[in-house]
Amino acid sequence: MKINTLFNRNKAVFSFEVFPPKKDSPIESVYGKLEEICALKPDFVSVTYGAGGSGAHSRTCEIAAKIKHDFGVESVAHLTCVNSTRAMIDETLEDFRQNGIENILALRGDYVEGIAPQKDFRYASELCAYIRAHGDFDVSGACYPEVHVDAADAAEDVLNLKKKVDAGAQHLISQLFFDNALFYRFLERAKIAGIRVPIEAGIMPVTNKKQIERMVSLCGASLPPKFVKIMQRYESKPEALRDAGIAYAVEQIVDLLANGVDGIHLYTMNNPTVAKKITRAVETLL
Ligand code: FAD
Repeated sequence: MKINTLFNRNKAVFSFEVFPPKKDSPIESVYGKLEEICALKPDFVSVTYGAGGSGAHSRTCEIAAKIKHDFGVESVAHLTCVNSTRAMIDETLEDFRQNGIENILALRGDYVEGIAPQKDFRYASELCAYIRAHGDFDVSGACYPEVHVDAADAAEDVLNLKKKVDAGAQHLISQLFFDNALFYRFLERAKIAGIRVPIEAGIMPVTNKKQIERMVSLCGASLPPKFVKIMQRYESKPEALRDAGIAYAVEQIVDLLANGVDGIHLYTMNNPTVAKKITRAVETLL
């Protein structure tokens, strides 16, 4: 099933993101958790893509196929391009096709130390156009409520996002954020730029201290005072911090749904317990 059809129902889309295990762990090591996550019956599950190079796609492909064919939930395979040649992308698309994968989240990816970037694709928009021209895939793209780090400003970033939509991205998934007001301002900019495709809000339940530090250094999400207060108060009480993180994410989701958002994309961190608590709290509101 192509996921763009999900946005035609009179209902917010509720999707999850999961990731493959590290290279030195067997792929089966995540299957138990992923099966539990899929049992919550999200509209789709997207599977992240490891940083670049030959063969990087194989675990993403295998897990996306498992989710779709064995766990019965539609899947989306992430695919980055900045470290791949056209021939490598062709090989990946062929693998996706042979494994029955119909949906791709097309990304530029990050430049990785020690891996020389290839020259065939510079931006996600080029990958979107290439995939649309080379197969019958549904293509999604990423977007950044707090502006992508490489962009000069919000105006430039949203105009580049419009190029990605014009190149064939049929649906957008946002970077995680902790302040809904920033997401609403981004939606206004996107509307002014003429972006009309559905935009899902990326929500990350923060459930441990290490995760917060990683999050801020990796994606630069700003932390509202209310969030910082909660995290400071419970940082040395793991259970309380987990429950507070879940409660914060649920509150964000309730507000987003009340404001008519197209969808919620939950960064599950492969944690079925957290995914289950959040799903149970919001499933009647979608
Ligand atoms: P682009 O859309 O290409 O944008 C990158 C930058 O280039 C922006 O600053 C943009 O303004 C600018 N730009 C775009 N087009 C043009 C143009 N035509 N001219 C000039 N400037 C332009 N990374 C992974 O490695 N694996 C994953 O699985 C993964 N999943 C992700 C899922 C989501 C939902 C999100 C939000 C991010 C994900 N990432 C992943 C991270 C992503 O690869 C990085 O954020 C990367 O730096 C940008 O990718 P992009 O596709 O958004 O790039």
